[in-house]
Amino acid sequence: MSKPFHLRFSLLLLFSVLMISVGIIVPLVFRHHDITIQNVSFDIPYEMLEQTYRADIDLQSQGKKVSWIELLSCLSENYQGDLSRYRQEDLDDLKSELCSGKSVRELVHDKEQYSCYLKLYETVLGGFVGDVERQQEDYGLKVFSPLPKGFPYTHYDDFGAERTYGYRRSHLGHDLICQSGTPVTAIESGTVEALGWNQYGGWRIGIRSFDKKRYYYYAHLQKDRPFQSGLSIGKVVCAGDVIGYTGQTGYSRTENESNIEIPHLHIGLSISPDDSSEEIWVDLYGITRFLEQHRAEVFYDLQTKEFHSAAPSSDAS
Ligand SMILES: [Zn+2]
Repeated sequence: MSKPFHLRFSLLLLFSVLMISVGIIVPLVFRHHDITIQNVSFDIPYEMLEQTYRADIDLQSQGKKVSWIELLSCLSENYQGDLSRYRQEDLDDLKSELCSGKSVRELVHDKEQYSCYLKLYETVLGGFVGDVERQQEDYGLKVFSPLPKGFPYTHYDDFGAERTYGYRRSHLGHDLICQSGTPVTAIESGTVEALGWNQYGGWRIGIRSFDKKRYYYYAHLQKDRPFQSGLSIGKVVCAGDVIGYTGQTGYSRTENESNIEIPHLHIGLSISPDDSSEEIWVDLYGITRFLEQHRAEVFYDLQTKEFHSAAPSSDAS
């Protein structure tokens, strides 16, 4: 089920406030050309992500290079941000126009607004689709679900739910409820920027994408054995690599304590559209559903007692 889409943002100089959907978060201010955008939040519904991705692959196979990010931006502009209006027929019509020779920019009404969507979506989804080395197909999804094939989990959209440990605050992430000890795989390739204990996240890992626009946060990892051996700050990891194991650590100033009631993986995604130091956290519910189609295969090594990716890649791009 997908919740109505919300993306909310205001374009101060040219537009008044557009109320779109998406679970919003911390106010964001970035400049694009002469437009200042505030309060951007992101929550594209799963169906729109999935169908524009399929359209991207289909267009690519026809030699038409139009990315899903351009398709998403064009549709968002056409809907004036009200993505609850999304229908697959509109995407099909858009594809037909593109195949008849028109460009995306010819099909938008307000090019400034289109550019704003393009920038936002490139920031959130920019590393998701492209040429891949790990699989046989050479163009497709470069990112993986954070939990590999064969390891069940449940989840619901819990972004923004109240949390009270330490202080009253919003839940700026997404929880995947699963058994303790489930291997965690990196969603996107990147560089390990944080590794260790945090009183809120317990044992946690922070990985920044190579373009530095996305910071992934994996928390509440397993007591005693939270991280894959060899992982260290500064190390490059590839999408789909095993980086750690789920648990219920956290909510304590004392290292290695498990004060979380239910074992789960907390994942967070913070975006940096420009060089802004602000943290803008993204609702990952739709994205997590989208990534369910792409779960890494892992195997257990009896000697090291660790899981490893069955298809390790040297692709660190
Ligand atoms: Zn959480």
